[in-house]
Amino acid sequence: MAENNRDGRRLVLTGNPVSQGIAVARAYVYGEREPEVCRRHYEPGREAEKLEGFHRAVGLAKEELARLAEESDAVAWAEILQAHCMILEDHELLLRTESAVREERLEPEAAVEKVFEEFAGLLAQAVDPLIAARSADIRDVKKRLIRVCQGREERRLSRLEQDVIVVAKELLPGDTAALDPAHVKGIVTEDGGCNSHSAILARSHGIPAVAGVADVLCRVPHGALLALDAVRGQVILEPSEEELDLCRKGQEEMLRKRSMEDRYLSRPGATKDGVSIEVGINVESARFEVPGEHYDYIGLLRTEFLYMGSSALPSEEEQFQAYKQVLIRAGGKPVTLRTLDIGGDKRPHCLWLPKEENPFLGNRALRLCFARPELFMTQLRAALRASAYGDLWLMFPMAGGIEDIRLAKSYVREAMARLEEGGLSYNPHIRLGIMVEVPSVALTADLAAEEVDFASVGTNDLTQYVCAADRTNREAAAYYRSYSPAMLRLLEEVFAAFGERNKPVSVCGEMAGSPQGAVLLTGLGARKLSMSPACLAGVKAALAKITVEEARALAHRCRQLKTQEEILDCLGVGH
Ligand code: PEP
Ligand code: MG
Repeated sequence: MAENNRDGRRLVLTGNPVSQGIAVARAYVYGEREPEVCRRHYEPGREAEKLEGFHRAVGLAKEELARLAEESDAVAWAEILQAHCMILEDHELLLRTESAVREERLEPEAAVEKVFEEFAGLLAQAVDPLIAARSADIRDVKKRLIRVCQGREERRLSRLEQDVIVVAKELLPGDTAALDPAHVKGIVTEDGGCNSHSAILARSHGIPAVAGVADVLCRVPHGALLALDAVRGQVILEPSEEELDLCRKGQEEMLRKRSMEDRYLSRPGATKDGVSIEVGINVESARFEVPGEHYDYIGLLRTEFLYMGSSALPSEEEQFQAYKQVLIRAGGKPVTLRTLDIGGDKRPHCLWLPKEENPFLGNRALRLCFARPELFMTQLRAALRASAYGDLWLMFPMAGGIEDIRLAKSYVREAMARLEEGGLSYNPHIRLGIMVEVPSVALTADLAAEEVDFASVGTNDLTQYVCAADRTNREAAAYYRSYSPAMLRLLEEVFAAFGERNKPVSVCGEMAGSPQGAVLLTGLGARKLSMSPACLAGVKAALAKITVEEARALAHRCRQLKTQEEILDCLGVGH
């Protein structure tokens, strides 16, 4: 959205508030976009000087990598950094780059761009996926080396020295895994919708965030003072004293509200008239820290965390240990493990995926697992083995119909048979369920409910597919309508279909974490809601203020309305 004011350096930019809150801090402009390299030739006679510059840059880049590896406490990350260091020692790569500097008289950065890109391109075509995945590492090293050649410092989100508001084009899952929540006070992105993965991450850490701010990278200089109002969706560059004062008051007001809501945290989820609403948490790491009395179950374990920050595919043993750790931390509460959901906007380094025209409509999640059975089997074996250590439920994302469900179940049976052959234990009665996030399955929820033990509604994807609006595309944000009449009808039918068959159905999309969304879902028939831990207090507080009858009446009123705007007004949500 466009700038709406300019007064000296002061500038007000607007976007979508995707994680509520208010912050004031300096801008931290983040993101190695593709570095700009012009293919310049230097004048003859300076070969030795340019070669020396290249060698110096290689040395500095290696030092940087060694330092990062030393500082890292994550073994997988340290291994990636060491692998990157080895790329900088690759004889062939160095010789060819030197030759481009010497013979073609290319500036070192241009020689690196040319030669490293050629290598990465060749590797990407390899049939062996492990070799193909190495092209991403070469490109990472290329960016680092070019930056060093250009004399620019690295910007990192993992070790920040002061409080900042991160300004980026979009934060990818790989960036956000390393984000230091203690110093990141706000996030502003050019791209991204309200349910893009960076928005979800911001909410899960309680970091105020505004997405879809047009041209923010060109307009906000690194280090400039920003006031971020992620309630109204404003980003103010170099705010006035008066604006700073308003921000401080807004922050105090929010803190007051939060501390009131926090009183509900340890109480069980229930409506005013005492109807129990099970409250679950969505978890993206084996090391989550949420006190047991705050939640009833883990409604969504996003297993992608094992793949996103790693240069090698996680082994069965690694996955087994991670899942077991989650089960132990959950202390006997049900843990809903979602099988691999990559593709779409999630493209891990460790797995080369061909570029697709419409990745959200393509080879994603369960479909990718069917196309790569070895990946799926490894995860299923690990999950089944872990099932011996707690109450593990297994859930398939992006199921599109009964065919997908039956095929997924046949893989589970095969994995069980293989474990038995190997004498390994697992829970033979493990519950099998699906995410309801594709309209074809939501519309046939009655059929699906016959096939599975449970379901969880992924309103983030369901909205994008029902409304045909890419959840990451800011141009489509206005069309991405989680509260549209179409969604309400569909949700009500899904709850009824599973309810009639006595099969548990949860909601683990972001709608469940919004206080008004939670009330509406309860009114539409949901009795299990799973959300980012940061949303627990607000949702429990909202549920405690209404009776089930009131929630039903509210949902009924909403069901009579014709547009999302009317529905949001009826719910009292600002838009
Ligand atoms: C969803 O689609 O609603 C969901 C919970 O899954 P994710 O956001 O990880 O796609
Ligand atoms: Mg989803």
